[in-house]
Amino acid sequence: MTREEEVKKRRTFAIISHPDAGKTTITEQLLKFGGAIREAGTVKARKTGNFAKSDWMDIEKERGISVTSSVMQFDYAGKRVNILDTPGHEDFSEDTYRTLMAVDAAVMIIDSAKGIEAQTKKLFQVVKHRGIPVFTFINKLDRDGREPLDLLSELEEILGIASVPMNWPIGMGANFQGLYDFTNQRVEVYQGEERFLPFAEIEGHELTRNPFFTQAVEDAELLADAGNPFDEEAVLKGQLTPVFFGSALTSFGVQTFLDSFLTYAPEPHSHKTVDGDDVDPLNPDFSGFVFKIQANMDPRHRDRIAFVRVVSGEFERGMDVNLLRTGKKVKLSNVTQFMAESRENVENAVAGDIIGVYDTGTYQVGDTMATGKLKTAFEPLPTFTPEIFMRVQAKNVMKQKSFQKGIEQLVQEGAIQLYKSYSTGDLMLGAVGQLQFEVFKDRMEREYSSEIVMTPMGNKTVRWIKPEQLDEKMSSSRNILARDRFDHPLFLFENDFAMRWFVDKYPDVELMEEFSV
Ligand code: GDP
Repeated sequence: MTREEEVKKRRTFAIISHPDAGKTTITEQLLKFGGAIREAGTVKARKTGNFAKSDWMDIEKERGISVTSSVMQFDYAGKRVNILDTPGHEDFSEDTYRTLMAVDAAVMIIDSAKGIEAQTKKLFQVVKHRGIPVFTFINKLDRDGREPLDLLSELEEILGIASVPMNWPIGMGANFQGLYDFTNQRVEVYQGEERFLPFAEIEGHELTRNPFFTQAVEDAELLADAGNPFDEEAVLKGQLTPVFFGSALTSFGVQTFLDSFLTYAPEPHSHKTVDGDDVDPLNPDFSGFVFKIQANMDPRHRDRIAFVRVVSGEFERGMDVNLLRTGKKVKLSNVTQFMAESRENVENAVAGDIIGVYDTGTYQVGDTMATGKLKTAFEPLPTFTPEIFMRVQAKNVMKQKSFQKGIEQLVQEGAIQLYKSYSTGDLMLGAVGQLQFEVFKDRMEREYSSEIVMTPMGNKTVRWIKPEQLDEKMSSSRNILARDRFDHPLFLFENDFAMRWFVDKYPDVELMEEFSV
């Protein structure tokens, strides 16, 4: 197979959802279709921590692949599928957002009883900003949930995205009969032996006498008349989300979803450099960018894995690449691919694939690595506005040096955001998830022998201001005037009320969600 053919069969996506919507369950189902799960419960075991960490490391050594690291690859229907995990729960961090920078599409799982929940909404904003396609799976139809039409309006009202159902539930909960699949012109039957009933053969079938079936047909007709038509271009631009219904737990509707998803999900996209040029996935020179760095599971080791999204060319084990930030050459020898089906996959990776590079401190989040003529770095990854803040200081005032060095390096690496108060010089850390603080504290101690004290400041709203509008008198008891690590001035507001008060008082001062001049 040529490299072009290889690239064209890649489909790389992430699943976004609120905890408990069924992401783990559906991921396992998808991996099963791809034959990638050798031990049942692999994904779940990782989530629940039923596997001892040492077991994981043994598995990694044995297979030469990393199962702990949240990227799963399998082949299905002529496609090579890469699923990137977006950690949730207490693992929620900036990495969760950054993972969305490395995918070409997103799958959004919604619990039919709960509708759109907080974390889904946050993740969706990031996906929307990127303009990548989103496919929606409404889960747990085997339980009583909300009216399907209500759920569709919620997509529109809360997320602001138009939707087009690809199939429609026939009843739900105890009355769940299956899916009225107008896309494939068949009924997917929930109970009994028979799974698919083509519309052509439906006449006289007992299902047609079921009131829920009649209701589903009516709904479908209504949607065909009044709903959005399927528009592939709008889907690819992320303006229209195809909606599928099903039950991940009983693996119902999951394969129908997967088949359709793989039909419409895009191939690996090109990637912009800081000069505004696009690097095409078919460009023969290798390039990629680091989108997250994960600390090793084993606390005795300081090494980490840098996750690299391949943008162009072909990775080969042992190849030399230029690290564009430092201008130095690095050899990619100790590299891992994830849950690959065979060792062969580990040797080569093309655009769309993710490789894990063992890192002893060489890489930073956002780094570009490239060979040949590619000399310009990719656009930097966005930083995500932190929501939780802590004051930080060295426990031992005599040990300022290691404290400063550690903070500087970890902040540079993108592990956490750092702000400095204008008036007191206090250092403040900002993160999107609690875990980022814990990892930071732990790494400060282990890697820089610096014990730190963190004092919670709670939630804050960050807004940058233009340097020329800076006036220290604008600082009050309801906000903190600070600067970020690039010396850009900003306010940390106690809450939205404090921000509105400020806007009323200083109508000419522009408050920005991201810094720009
Ligand atoms: P995650 O937190 O999004 O990864 O959610 P999980 O996949 O762990 O699912 C959370 C809970 O919902 C588990 O108890 C699952 O067994 C259950 N669950 C997932 N999918 C379904 C479904 O389709 N129907 C029902 N009834 N339960 C489900």
